[in-house]
Amino acid sequence: MTTEQGRASLRAIGESSVLERAVTDVARSRERARRSRLRTVAIVLLPIFALLSARAIVTRAGLPGLHLSSTDARFAPAVVLIVLLAVVILAPMLGAGRSPHQLYRPSEIDVRFSDVRGAALVVDEAVKTLNLFLAHKTFTELMGGTSRRAILFEGPPGTGKTHVAKAMAAEGGVPFLFVSASAFQSMFYGQTNRKIRSIFKALRKYSRSEGGAIGFIEEIDAIGGARAGMGARSEGVSGVVNELLVQLQSFDQPPVSRRLVGALVDRVNAWLPAARQIRKRPAPHANILVIGATNRAADLDPALVRPGRFDRKIYFDLPSRAGRREILDYYLAKKAHEDQLDDPVARDSLAAMTIGHSPVMLEHLLDEALVWALRRGADRLSWNDIQQAKMAEQIGLGNPVEYTDQERTAIATHEAGHATVAWLVGKGRTLDVLSIVKRGAALGLLLHSDSEERFTRTKSEIEALIQIAFGGMVAEEIFFGAAGSGVAGDLKAATDAACQMVGSLGMGSSLISLDAVDAGVGRNLVTKVLASDHAREEVEEVLRLMKAVAREMLREHRHVVVALRDALLERHELVGGAILDVIAHAADVETTETAKAAS
Ligand code: ADP
Repeated sequence: MTTEQGRASLRAIGESSVLERAVTDVARSRERARRSRLRTVAIVLLPIFALLSARAIVTRAGLPGLHLSSTDARFAPAVVLIVLLAVVILAPMLGAGRSPHQLYRPSEIDVRFSDVRGAALVVDEAVKTLNLFLAHKTFTELMGGTSRRAILFEGPPGTGKTHVAKAMAAEGGVPFLFVSASAFQSMFYGQTNRKIRSIFKALRKYSRSEGGAIGFIEEIDAIGGARAGMGARSEGVSGVVNELLVQLQSFDQPPVSRRLVGALVDRVNAWLPAARQIRKRPAPHANILVIGATNRAADLDPALVRPGRFDRKIYFDLPSRAGRREILDYYLAKKAHEDQLDDPVARDSLAAMTIGHSPVMLEHLLDEALVWALRRGADRLSWNDIQQAKMAEQIGLGNPVEYTDQERTAIATHEAGHATVAWLVGKGRTLDVLSIVKRGAALGLLLHSDSEERFTRTKSEIEALIQIAFGGMVAEEIFFGAAGSGVAGDLKAATDAACQMVGSLGMGSSLISLDAVDAGVGRNLVTKVLASDHAREEVEEVLRLMKAVAREMLREHRHVVVALRDALLERHELVGGAILDVIAHAADVETTETAKAAS
């Protein structure tokens, strides 16, 4: 490679697209390994072929067969039995130390960087790391740098750590060795370490033959957790971390053949004068990238994350709203759906209501929605199917229980109360589902979400949430004189929020944060707030005030509660726009009636 070509590759390393495969150091090493393999085969086979041909010509005889004498035949069953026994005893032990990896050739991986959506920063970092890996030699020769050999992917499950690692292997055209940390465990003492050695050995082997290899250790915290004091944990931890550390530093260990030649050279050199010593070739560079994935990087042994080891960390966060939109677009393009879901507004709402969803959860949600579509005999999913799937995922499947008439009316009134307050105070909130179908412990429910992605809340927004929580209780009181036991969950939510306001957010009379008070294990904020008489009174006051506000709202909008209640009794479940339609209709009727009464 000319220096100019090298400089061009260097410039490309820092860019956000993967290097041209043909020009990488990895491709060159692979080609060298291929030629060397062909040469070896030729060197071994040619003399044998020549010998056999010569023999055939000279003696005109075929190949010699295998003839057993009668004495050999008598011992044959015993020999077979001994060999079998040896195999049965030794095979599990030999197998126990084998590398537990799963090998994927690049052609077997169908993931590319273009399949990683909503994670632009992660992809950018992964591309740069991959480029360094692909052009490691150029980087070392022209700049004297050492390329990254181990990186850590940290993030919650399902955020695409394996997905990106696979894309890196596929785009780089190198083998991908996947191993789950739990697969290293073995019932035989010392075999866990042997397995770790084996995977690194396998990585070195593939790296030599293919120019590079990527190893992926899932849940690395399971084997790389911080070492406790001596004897506190079993072989499992301290020995394993040591082994990992040793292996991370022995990437350039020469293969067995080189080591044998080296030993021979050492022997010969012992006889030779200093001036005639045979020079040993340095160990070849093994181009390996080990990716460790974990949900808790902080739990890893500090020695593992020092420079030169897993020193680089890429954080995989849950996707933002824009990220979710990209992921939803990507998966919806693959799944049969109704035209209503092609509307950008619908897609945006979908992204808004799936806050907290990881990419895998989004994919799963759409798959579940397809199942709902199938159930109703359709061949494509609709908005309603997604809502059903989301509810089933969040709260559980609908349970077809028979309520008594009185109970059904009470539940419908309760939910209608929540929805009415939410409609009145929930500025920036979307009403998603209103239902009286029993799901899990919930007899009915109102699902409402932020219309925009929010990371903070104002005082009035928290108060609005408390008022919505009281909507159900107040509606029951207005229509039946007293509330039933269905208010327990609402009161809990309201108390939690009020305690936050008073004890942690400085929204009460005191600015002291009770969060900062160390009150012992198992004492949460609510316990701390309620332990103080003054704070407790303030919480009580907030709750009473919010309840009074909710009562006032429902008195004024009784017609909306009635309309929603009746719609629920008739249809059991109202989804999205249907809730607003009922409210709008009720408002129209009310206006007409008031006008009539006035005239
Ligand atoms: P992790 O290793 O972080 O637990 P995975 O990489 O196994 O998560 O992700 C699980 C699945 O989620 C992937 O197979 C892929 O289908 C999907 N997925 C994850 N991240 C993304 C993404 N950014 N874009 C598209 N699909 C993704």
